[in-house]
Amino acid sequence: MTIKKISYVIPVYNEEENIEELYREITGVSKTLPYNYEILFVDDGSNDGSLNKIKILLQNDKHIKYISFAQNRGQSAALYAGFTYASGDTIITMDSDLQNDPRDIPNMLKYYGEYDMVTGWRYNRKDTLSKRIASKIGNGVRNFLTNETIHDTGCSLKIMRADMLKKIKIFKGLHRFLPTLMRLEGAKVKEVKVNHRQRIHGESKYTNLKRAKEGFYDLMSVRWMIKRYINYTIKDKNV
Ligand code: UDP
Ligand code: MG
Repeated sequence: MTIKKISYVIPVYNEEENIEELYREITGVSKTLPYNYEILFVDDGSNDGSLNKIKILLQNDKHIKYISFAQNRGQSAALYAGFTYASGDTIITMDSDLQNDPRDIPNMLKYYGEYDMVTGWRYNRKDTLSKRIASKIGNGVRNFLTNETIHDTGCSLKIMRADMLKKIKIFKGLHRFLPTLMRLEGAKVKEVKVNHRQRIHGESKYTNLKRAKEGFYDLMSVRWMIKRYINYTIKDKNV
């Protein structure tokens, strides 16, 4: 797969103190890569100065695009809207809180092409102990019930083929199952170890209990989806 244009799709919910630095980091990395790019911020109904920060930045850089929701609709909704509006053939997602490190992208891109999706694995995760334990259990249960071997499906830093991604309809919570959903579309998926950083500014938007409850419910839907997925190969046709 030859890349023509990368779309960075970045959900933003009350991240005003992180936007500028994130923009600088992504731009720094993008300038070292031989591809055209856009940075698509999806403001998920922030009620702080996030949108304003984005609008100030775009005055000096036409790589910046944004969508702003009227209300907070959640990370899945923000990602889904971003995928819909992204104009690149390659989509790179990451969080806007600086926990992901854009400097991992060049290494991840080495696997892209041979693989249709390259997903980050935060092997040295900088989150609270309770979050790390919850994530270990979550990934274990998810792998067991979906027949996967992904260590860290919650890592937002992902590189994906836009044509495959755009076929997927994402419902609330389903962004956590993107490797599985992409596989259903025929994608080859590779997990690559990435850096992870502590959140310095702003707050985490999730509690463990909420994530566990919703996650289990979503898991049942994904299991159903895997079983009921329509998959056929055409032997012959005249259309
Ligand atoms: N986010 C969002 N809408 C929400 C909740 C979160 O767009 O309703 C964004 C948030 O701004 C961040 C990313 O999703 O860029 C991940 O959120 P967070 O860092 O709070 O999750 P954690 O790292 O704690 O799992
Ligand atoms: Mg975070």
